[in-house]
Amino acid sequence: MQDDWSLNPNVRKLLQRVPLPISLPTPLRRSAGRTTPNELHGTRAVVTHLRDALDLALAQAVQHAGAAVTVVDAMGETTLTGRIVDGGGQLVPATADLPGGILSAIAQSGATGDRRPVTLIHRVTRPHGNDVAVNESTDALLGVGHAAASLPPNSRLLLVLGHDLRGDSLGGLMTAATQGFMRSAFKELGKSGSTCHLIRAEDAQSAGALAAFLASPRAAFLSGLDLVAQKSLAGDAAEGPALDGKVILVTGAARGIGAAIAERLALEGAHVWINDIAQSEAAAADTVAQIRARGGRAEFVAADVGTLSGAQAIADAIAKGAGRVDGVIHNAGITRDRTLRKMSVAQWRQVLQVNFGAMYLVQNALAPILQPGASMVLMSSVMGIAGNFGQTNYSTSKSAVIELAKQWACDGYGRGLRANAIAPGFILTDMTAQMPVINREMAKQLTAMLQPGLPLDVADLACFLVGAQSRGLTGQVLRCDGGMAFGA
Ligand code: NAP
Repeated sequence: MQDDWSLNPNVRKLLQRVPLPISLPTPLRRSAGRTTPNELHGTRAVVTHLRDALDLALAQAVQHAGAAVTVVDAMGETTLTGRIVDGGGQLVPATADLPGGILSAIAQSGATGDRRPVTLIHRVTRPHGNDVAVNESTDALLGVGHAAASLPPNSRLLLVLGHDLRGDSLGGLMTAATQGFMRSAFKELGKSGSTCHLIRAEDAQSAGALAAFLASPRAAFLSGLDLVAQKSLAGDAAEGPALDGKVILVTGAARGIGAAIAERLALEGAHVWINDIAQSEAAAADTVAQIRARGGRAEFVAADVGTLSGAQAIADAIAKGAGRVDGVIHNAGITRDRTLRKMSVAQWRQVLQVNFGAMYLVQNALAPILQPGASMVLMSSVMGIAGNFGQTNYSTSKSAVIELAKQWACDGYGRGLRANAIAPGFILTDMTAQMPVINREMAKQLTAMLQPGLPLDVADLACFLVGAQSRGLTGQVLRCDGGMAFGA
């Protein structure tokens, strides 16, 4: 699948010479290939608070992943700061509340004109005193926001909320204020390919692992996520998503996003089971061949996931060929767009059954071979959050998928099973190639990054969610949409 025209270097050169009022997007810094332990090599990280175990876990997670870390905290706890400095980091004892403090510290973290992306990790603090509106904590948001807006392209702003903000009205107000800040900040940062997220840290290790992922080029097309990093039931969140020997099913994987996910998982060492309908056998065989040519393991199982017999055929094939399943990417999906007036019963039912009902059928059939600690990823859509003209059947199905992920997360919690939903925005695939040009251009303009995503973006996210690095995430919805301007 080709990149969008607005990212083609020749077109960009031409447009830069012609004085047309066209905003060109910033090319995103992505990364292909197997995940390495130092995904953040060549980047910087600035940490504005280093006073407890959570701050240390965040700083160490990005440092271990290869970022050059600068701590900007005049009141930083000496032992903790010492550990980051021992790990090769530096301390700038400035106060990180107002714009000047952070910007001058960032300037000190690299040579003049240093264009390496920066991950700015800001622990949102609890306001002191009685003024809930204007205080050092809300001022600090302006400080980090101002700094983030001046960072090199492809930078990150990660806002972290710890336990100290829980359980009372002042903490609740600060949390809500930060959410509002984040939802606007990511829209401003997107044009330079930079992103902003909010991490609610219930567990320090999980929050660190999540921060390292969001800071990485694997999360280039994610922005505006509001996630809870909770304590993992299946062991600590580990570095990187190495999936050696894990058996993972990807439904609807002959082409598009599913194929990209299958290729990505195989690269991490997974034994991938690719499902699609029999009519897509040629495309599926191509995907399998590509994976095997790179030394990966992949099998194809032809079946319609929307039928009981199809779901059972998939489970039987995996039981016979691998005897277990460690992860499921419920990806198969279709559109049958019609306005309500023109929608037939068949179009309505087909979309609900393939996009949503099939997930039950496949999951139930796999139950006997589902391993403890297995992770399920359910493909939803931003249309399941925001809705769309002419897509009531699609939005209905994708909204139900989000609830399903939450219910499976609850049901599986005691058994260490996880379930999360991905809500892609506008991704370049055969499905979106059918959209009229004008709708495609409008969809791009709705993203903060002014560009469509690639199947690889969703694949990187699915790979993270099925791997050990995301063990602290379950029951959550992760938009993969370049920061789309609509939806709650
Ligand atoms: P795609 O290119 O159309 O690929 C979907 C695959 O699923 C196709 O190979 C399709 O086979 C297969 N499939 C359809 N019905 C099936 C069934 N009953 N059993 C097994 N396989 C079946 O779509 P995509 O763009 O990669 O989308 C993948 C997922 O992401 C879908 O759930 C979609 O709703 C979701 N999504 C995509 C976007 C986007 O921008 N592309 C945005 C939001 C959400 P055939 O092609 O032969 O029918």
